[in-house]
Amino acid sequence: MQTKDTLYIGGEWIAPSTSNVIEVISPTTEEVIARVPEAAEGDVDRAVEAAKAALAGPYPKLSGAERAATVRRLSQAIQARSQELADVFTAEMGTPSSWSLMGQVFSSTMALDGWADLAETFPFEEIRPGALGPVLVRKEPVGVSAGIIPWNVPLFIVALKLGAALAAGAPMILKPSPETPLDGYILGEILDEIELPKGMVSILPAGREIGEYIVRHPGVDKVGFTGSTAAGRKVGAICGELLKRCTLELGGKSAAIILEDADLASAIPMLMPSALMNNGQACIAQTRILAPRARYDDVVEAVAQAVKAQTVGDPADPTVAVGPLVAERQRDRVLGYIDKGKAEGATLTVGGGRPAGLDKGWFVEPTLFVDVDNRMTIAQEEIFGPVLAVIGYDGPEDAVRIANDSDYGLSGSVWTSDVEAGLDVARQVRTGTYGINQFGTLDLRNPFGGFKASGVGRELGPEGLSAYLETKSILLPPGYTPPA
Ligand code: NAD
Repeated sequence: MQTKDTLYIGGEWIAPSTSNVIEVISPTTEEVIARVPEAAEGDVDRAVEAAKAALAGPYPKLSGAERAATVRRLSQAIQARSQELADVFTAEMGTPSSWSLMGQVFSSTMALDGWADLAETFPFEEIRPGALGPVLVRKEPVGVSAGIIPWNVPLFIVALKLGAALAAGAPMILKPSPETPLDGYILGEILDEIELPKGMVSILPAGREIGEYIVRHPGVDKVGFTGSTAAGRKVGAICGELLKRCTLELGGKSAAIILEDADLASAIPMLMPSALMNNGQACIAQTRILAPRARYDDVVEAVAQAVKAQTVGDPADPTVAVGPLVAERQRDRVLGYIDKGKAEGATLTVGGGRPAGLDKGWFVEPTLFVDVDNRMTIAQEEIFGPVLAVIGYDGPEDAVRIANDSDYGLSGSVWTSDVEAGLDVARQVRTGTYGINQFGTLDLRNPFGGFKASGVGRELGPEGLSAYLETKSILLPPGYTPPA
């Protein structure tokens, strides 16, 4: 049992302003494994004051290359504690250890390395020709930023936001989810170790009320939010009203389109990690599998075999592919969707309940529905669990129509032996990232984000860095030349 009695506020370990406590419950054993302070309004106020002081301090004025060096040190310090962090994710949210190191930790350090490389070359100041004379276009830190973090890939989402903020020179207040506060304590130690200037980062684990307090706080200029579409709408509305800068990374219901010429023997095994990674709790999960009518039975057979082959159990066991869901309410929600699938007429082909022999823990069997109509609830709503649906289509146009018949537009893929035919499909699907014959649809150096209800704005790449910058145009006298 771990117990913490301080919060990381503005670079100091400080006693919290209240005695509120978060109990971290193991999704595998259902036992309390840690107690940490829950941040309250007073803690947010202190963090904002520290961030404002840091914004006026030396760090935001450093060159891009100097800020890049900080981000690189952060990446290296995380790498040095990678196994410890991976084990924390397995303990606090049930990520299989077979995926935790790569999916949770190295994905984060690779994203940070990308931010560092970008900060070294990004034009934070450039002179452009203007209508009357030269203009200095400057990219300045956006101000005090907030990173609101979901529980499913906490360090990775921190890396997407904090990497950009530190590269841009903007202080950041991080709010981890109450389900996953423990990795934040290791992150605080790492930030101490790399001697990040005080005030640049605070880490305040808490629930949605404090999240909303941070979003509304007059000292916060920019909100980077990742979470559900329902919460994102609320955050976006507040930011709109208060005219705050805001990036929203929200839910998904992505489709993998299997074209008729696809090699199923290679495509389906590659698709499985994308569909079921992190126990199906991934925003980019491709949970709708679109199969051509001519090969429908072959696709169903291949997917069913692959789903049945997933080993379920204790996520600390390295041979396990699918662990428990994060919380009891998440397990109940997923089982509720399985009931709905059956009630609406889809055929349950694999799984559908609690795995045999696992009496403790919030486990749900990897589950496959076939004969799914895209208008059914299980094809429209984000389930966020290991539940897949195979949907038939008639020709590539119909496949694109079905893929686009969704409120969401986050990721997706197409599987084919004709890359040009795949590109043709990729260009038509209304989604922020897409893969051709690839299980990964998210590139750590290029923009990532959603169309439609999957979000507003982009993270990663120059577009993502720009979201943490304000742009200023300084009109220079005609004939101005900068000092050599
Ligand atoms: P959630 O929306 O319940 O919570 C996300 C975070 O927002 C938490 O820290 C929560 O405390 C906070 N929050 C909730 N309501 C808030 C409010 N009104 N104001 C301020 N903060 C608030 O989501 P979750 O269950 O933690 O995460 C799962 C969801 O996140 C899924 O929908 C998933 O698709 C999405 N997600 C999206 C991405 C992406 O990049 N698009 C990545 C990971 C997860």
